Amino acid sequence: MANAIAPQPGIMDIALYQGGAAKIAGRTDAIKLSSNENPFGPSEKARDAVIRAAHSLHRYPNTDHASLRQAIGEVHGLDPDRIICGVGSDEIIHFLCQAYAGPETEVLFTEHGFLMYRISALAAGATPVSVREHERVTDIDALIAGATERTRLIFVANPNNPTGTMIGLADLERLARAVPQAILVIDSAYADYVDDYDGGAELAGRLPNVVMTRTFSKIYGLGGLRVGWGYAPREIIDVLNRIRGPFNLSNVALEGAEAAVRDQDYITRCRSENARMRAWLAEALAEKGVPSDTSCGNFILARFADTATAEACDAYLQTEGLLVRRVAGYGLPHCLRITVGDEASCRRVAHVIGMFMTERAAAAGAGA
Ligand SMILES: *Cc1c(COP(=O)(O)O)cnc(C)c1O
Repeated sequence: MANAIAPQPGIMDIALYQGGAAKIAGRTDAIKLSSNENPFGPSEKARDAVIRAAHSLHRYPNTDHASLRQAIGEVHGLDPDRIICGVGSDEIIHFLCQAYAGPETEVLFTEHGFLMYRISALAAGATPVSVREHERVTDIDALIAGATERTRLIFVANPNNPTGTMIGLADLERLARAVPQAILVIDSAYADYVDDYDGGAELAGRLPNVVMTRTFSKIYGLGGLRVGWGYAPREIIDVLNRIRGPFNLSNVALEGAEAAVRDQDYITRCRSENARMRAWLAEALAEKGVPSDTSCGNFILARFADTATAEACDAYLQTEGLLVRRVAGYGLPHCLRITVGDEASCRRVAHVIGMFMTERAAAAGAGA
């Protein structure tokens, strides 16, 4: 009778999500470049709105998120009735799996895809299925080939995390049309970092089986507030709203996110500063013998000769007070993901990696 009280199948297969490291033991001055956070934080207008919202903490929040959806709709040119807001885009991913996947169904994504896809698929009792990427780029043909009649959801982050690469909307449309029995979820957590790109909004507005997810956690600098949203055909929004907790977003979250999305001048500044420092960092690392793919996000996937070198570099960075992200869990043990920080942080991380590479080369020379 030991197993009389057991969770649903699949639950115990979930490995606990490991966030980016936030602390180095014995240091208070660590520079955190491990979670793709905006180094400048949120817009001041968002911060002010959060503080104002503290005066209504005794009130329940509204349940329809009408004001936030209206603001998002105005800013992005979208129909507010086709928007759903969640506790981070993680919650939208979760709703999708809960509503559309389950036992005997499959959830498809790529080998270096975001870890939450697997977690949410298993939580729903579905079978997670991953397909190869091509040189760290999403391979549409591999996804089409990997789809079966049991596939209910296909998740593609574009730009992808942790690779930073992205594919074109025409390819995503081809995938959605080739697999009409499934919903294609375009995870656009990093779309705000791409110039002149709608994140798949137009596609989600036009095709019956495309959903776009967005977040306030990255360029908006509000990871701690926990707000994300999805844009989808009305029928899908209606389904997701049935399983959404009525009070899933607090007053504070709703007010903060609305002020944030209305301050697009701030977002434009963050986008251009990120692009400037991302180019600088990629080139600085390449000069020190650490290549990376062209990144479209707010991070760089630095590639090393092998796993041992990547791990040694990570340890070296930590002794210098720098936290980056190991990505072995994403099938990239020879890489480190480095968030594009402010200019001082970028210069520091490039300098320390340069010292590491020099010392490593000297040690190898001495040993030879
Ligand atoms: C950070 C990230 C998200 C956003 O998660 P939130 O729950 O909105 O904080 C979603 N997808 C990917 C690929 C991410 O990297």
